[in-house]
Amino acid sequence: MTVTRDVALAQAAEADARFKAGAPRGPLDGVPIALKDLFCTRGIRTACGSKILERFVPPYDATVYQRLRAAGAVLLGKLNMDEFAMGSSTENSAYFTTRNPWDLDRVPGGSSGGSSAAVAAGLAAASLGTDTGGSIRQPAAFCGVVGLKPTYGRVSRYGLVAFASSLDQAGPFTKTVADTARVLQVIAGADPMDSTAAVVPVPDYLAALGGGVKGLRIGIPREYFIDGMDPEVERAVRAAVEVLRGLGARTEEVSLPHTEYGLAAYYLIGPAEASSNLARYDGVKYGLRVSGGRDLVEMSSKTRAAGFGREVKRRIMLGTYALSAGYYDAYYGQAQRVRTLVARDFKAAFERVDAIVAPTTPGVAFKVGEKEDPLQMYLNDVFTVPVSLAGLPGISVPAGFTLQGLPIGVQVIARAYDEPTVLRVAHAYEQATDWHTRKPTLEATPR
Ligand code: GLN
Repeated sequence: MTVTRDVALAQAAEADARFKAGAPRGPLDGVPIALKDLFCTRGIRTACGSKILERFVPPYDATVYQRLRAAGAVLLGKLNMDEFAMGSSTENSAYFTTRNPWDLDRVPGGSSGGSSAAVAAGLAAASLGTDTGGSIRQPAAFCGVVGLKPTYGRVSRYGLVAFASSLDQAGPFTKTVADTARVLQVIAGADPMDSTAAVVPVPDYLAALGGGVKGLRIGIPREYFIDGMDPEVERAVRAAVEVLRGLGARTEEVSLPHTEYGLAAYYLIGPAEASSNLARYDGVKYGLRVSGGRDLVEMSSKTRAAGFGREVKRRIMLGTYALSAGYYDAYYGQAQRVRTLVARDFKAAFERVDAIVAPTTPGVAFKVGEKEDPLQMYLNDVFTVPVSLAGLPGISVPAGFTLQGLPIGVQVIARAYDEPTVLRVAHAYEQATDWHTRKPTLEATPR
């Protein structure tokens, strides 16, 4: 979306000077990174994939960007995304569709598709995305990189353009689990600017990597292997489980019985919160204004009609309906009750096991334009949404390729704030395999 050339060169020169002086600033000194275009960056446009924010230049930095800078990271630019993080392919970006580096006819996943593609293509050493219902884990799986959604509350949301505030969480994309640990170390922790960023001590994530999985109890959820899923994905995930067993993990089947209701609950709660969050784009406070209306209401309605894309309008309508008097309890209230049941499923499973291993997605990267029906698109999130509803940490790590050469991801889930176990299992698996070392061959083909 935006290349921050001058910022990058200035920050890199400062990092060089610190190295010469023998005083590197922090664990990410000189590391080139990029941000999904919904993290506010002072003086740098933050458009969130939307025409309504096309000219929005934030007057302040998101906490996570402040922390990355303080650790020495160098900002290369801002990355494409589905408008307001609604989508699974970046096709909902109001600007352009990002391509998958493994196959340029295919999507990189979404909504953080720019963030996963940039790391997969080797354009940045790390990037940040956000995950509300899968938007870090799903694109990581589609692009063959590591993507971590931390526990809800682990990372500050201050300075993130909000989609669904009870679900949104920022996290890293990297090539390796160790690099994810390094970035998480920098961005995690309480923040006086965000009361939902929990005051929970931040452990040493790199130190957690070494533990191995010997004796660890790992659950395989029965409900995550469903009819209609890609058999190559199922095979790869079952093979990953075997690798972990070979490393000494004790695996057992677990049940998460309310999994099938997760999507329906998510697609009520997410839009309900979005309809409320997006009320702020009224043509007055910031962003686009379409003038010429007779009064304030007409100006606002013209602005929103012109500034929001189809999917965003669909969510606003869904959410407004679900929250309206008379329907509130039947839809929103019911969805919240289902959310509690989904969270209880995980709680019960984690009484028996320390981690859960499952597919990240039911299929691999699909073709641009292939999923025109929004419901088909929503089905992609079936294995990522429950973890979001329960607020748990989840990572996707490369777990092989289809015969066609498309990446497959395996998901590791643990208890709230137990990122150390998520990273430990993921790292043990990664070190026993070589999927993460493969690189896409990118050719400049005219299209
Ligand atoms: N694909 C899901 C959606 O469209 C999740 C998006 C996200 O996690 N931001 O809502």
